[in-house]
Amino acid sequence: MGLKDVIADDQKKFDFMTIAYIGMGSNLDGPELQLASALKALQGIPSTELLQYSSFYQSQPLGPQDQPDYVNAVAELNTSLTALTLLDHLQAIESAQGRLRDAERWGPRTLDLDLLVFGEQQIQDARLTVPHPEIARRNFVLFPLVELTSDLVIPAMGSVNDLLKQVGTTGLRKIKHK
Ligand code: ATP
Ligand code: CA
Ligand code: CA
Ligand code: CA
Repeated sequence: MGLKDVIADDQKKFDFMTIAYIGMGSNLDGPELQLASALKALQGIPSTELLQYSSFYQSQPLGPQDQPDYVNAVAELNTSLTALTLLDHLQAIESAQGRLRDAERWGPRTLDLDLLVFGEQQIQDARLTVPHPEIARRNFVLFPLVELTSDLVIPAMGSVNDLLKQVGTTGLRKIKHK
């Protein structure tokens, strides 16, 4: 095999890999420790690599205001799983960290893992909408996301940098650098 074949082969090996961004949030039972555990758990997902993660941010809750502030971050994964299989793993990690699924909408939780972006894919499934439809409205998603990938263009939404310019910093505070 010549060098060209080796390079071509090497690229083929990565064709099925997808870069995915995961929005992480917690506001119960030690939010920073919850995110640290979740990062370890993301590393443990099969056929998936944790490439990098953002600083941690404190944010004010959406919906019901009678709950603690959140800690949020974004993680970047490289995976050969499908989006739905990745979602299964994310939900298993949430459950393992004590997430109760019957609670009120946007109520307090030990861990929330949202699949924000999955490569170039646009998915409309009963269980999964990708890109996550609320990205453009959430500074606690956009600030950490831009830290990791300032040139990302989100399918049907546009450049993260442009989106970032359209959200304020209301309620948001960086609490921990990576
Ligand atoms: P939001 O989605 O507005 O951030 P939430 O995170 O509080 O709200 P959950 O209760 O965690 O919502 O999830 C409700 C359902 O959303 C999940 O059971 C899941 O099947 C579905 N879902 C749809 N799209 C996504 C996505 N991109 N990432 C994670 N879950 C998703
Ligand atoms: Ca792994
Ligand atoms: Ca969420
Ligand atoms: Ca969620």
